[in-house]
Amino acid sequence: MSVNADHVRRAALDSRAPIHDEVVAAGESWVGNILRGQVLRIVDLEGNQAVDTLFYNAHESDEHYSAVDTIRGQGNIYLTTGTKLRSNLGATLLTIIEDTCGRHDTLGGACSAESNTVRYALEARHMHSCRDSFLLALARRGHDLGKRDLPSNINFFMNVPVTSDGKLSFADGLSAPGRYVELRADMDVLVLISNCPQLNNPCNAYNPTPIQILTWAAG
Ligand SMILES: [Zn+2]
Repeated sequence: MSVNADHVRRAALDSRAPIHDEVVAAGESWVGNILRGQVLRIVDLEGNQAVDTLFYNAHESDEHYSAVDTIRGQGNIYLTTGTKLRSNLGATLLTIIEDTCGRHDTLGGACSAESNTVRYALEARHMHSCRDSFLLALARRGHDLGKRDLPSNINFFMNVPVTSDGKLSFADGLSAPGRYVELRADMDVLVLISNCPQLNNPCNAYNPTPIQILTWAAG
């Protein structure tokens, strides 16, 4: 899409009322369905917040987001405008159509009670984690998905640069208050979000903050 056409599309989107508009508090989760053609916008309201996210085929949850297929498909490890989020079956789940942050991670994974223990301290085991948030959110909504159904995820707004010798580093975010990422669903998808509660590394600037979720109808 040309820059001009993109401006026209965005202006058209902003002139229409969203069908869903919700603030997700720091450390909370969100589950929802986005139908084919609908647009999902995730806003980093205060900046430097990691938003751990998974997508599933809404009609067949065995088909889900695949970091490996996404990276291989685009030949790049970072996610940004133009990235097609691929499934484990090679289909496109969603496409990133707008990104005012510029880079999102899909290598760092989700924090868990286990990773809190290994990375930080035994005393960190009880702290809230994205993996537990995913499972709690699914259970609350009555979804029949468990630990085995959690593949490697996306960390929107999180900065995990890879060094020249291939090392992963968790760095200060590139995001800032109000930056957002916008995705168009290429099939009906189930969206699972953990607004990361992590207090022990710079992915949230040691201070988890709220995000905003907006969706627009197709067209
Ligand atoms: Zn987390």
